[in-house]
Amino acid sequence: MSDMQKATAALRLANKVVFFTGAGISAESGIPTFRDKLTGLWKKYNPERLETASAFRENPSLVWGWYLWRRHQVSQSQPNSAHFSAPRLALTGRQVAVITQNIDDLHERAGCEEIVHLHGSLSQPKCFACHRGAELTLEEAQIPEEGAMIEPPRCKRCNGRLRPAVVWFRENLPAGAWKEAMRLVKNCDVLISVGTSGVVMPAANIPEIALAAGATVIHVNLIDVSLGGTKELMLIGKATVVLSELLNSIQHLAAPGKA
Ligand code: NAD
Ligand code: ZN
Repeated sequence: MSDMQKATAALRLANKVVFFTGAGISAESGIPTFRDKLTGLWKKYNPERLETASAFRENPSLVWGWYLWRRHQVSQSQPNSAHFSAPRLALTGRQVAVITQNIDDLHERAGCEEIVHLHGSLSQPKCFACHRGAELTLEEAQIPEEGAMIEPPRCKRCNGRLRPAVVWFRENLPAGAWKEAMRLVKNCDVLISVGTSGVVMPAANIPEIALAAGATVIHVNLIDVSLGGTKELMLIGKATVVLSELLNSIQHLAAPGKA
């Protein structure tokens, strides 16, 4: 049996399914992954240099300009069929949740109802000093030139600089996000890990935790990222193509016990 056939069989029997996603699921929506080269002013930086509190302290305008540019890129993008596969699967009566490392909102816009954002979100900034969430005025949220350095707006309460509410390198995950992810991962029948290189910790441990809890793990990636476990399946190809094939094979099959 091919891994696709085994994956179909595992999904047929599954009641609880978790999608665990990384930048690769949004690549076909035109949002670059971290392994894609940065362009313009940023090409001399790598994300580890832009995505840290110390980079923001040293050069807030550089980091804020990059953040506004990424927000703009996301607002111009649309969810692709891989994002739609989670709500599509939920229509069969299965319990479906998404745990994402992505900071875009394409899962939300595809209509997913249960989403855990492990690394925060680009949609709303917060104060670097007092950590309170903040809203941008229309003028502050205007589309930047690619590569522009833009002084971050100030917090209305403490006058601190605003920063993106995303998790930078060496920062903790948002309160409650990891706990909620663990509840979902340890209780699922199948975990579908899509478009993640598995290097950013602790998120990268999620497939192993699912395997240890007895789930089947289906990886979807352009390259082989499996760990060699017996309940692991590797589907190589573009997320949109592989997930459409997988979903087409079970879409008429209701969750076990719900036919
Ligand atoms: P990554 O950039 O490290 O890896 C992307 C993975 O996706 C690679 O393994 C690649 O082979 C695979 N991939 C690329 N295109 C694909 C496709 N069409 N179909 C299937 N797989 C594909 O991303 P990561 O593992 O998510 O980790 C890096 C960090 O980057 C995360 O913490 C995340 O917050 C951040 N990030 C997020 C976004 C976003 O929100 N869209 C974009 C860039 C980076
Ligand atoms: Zn403040």
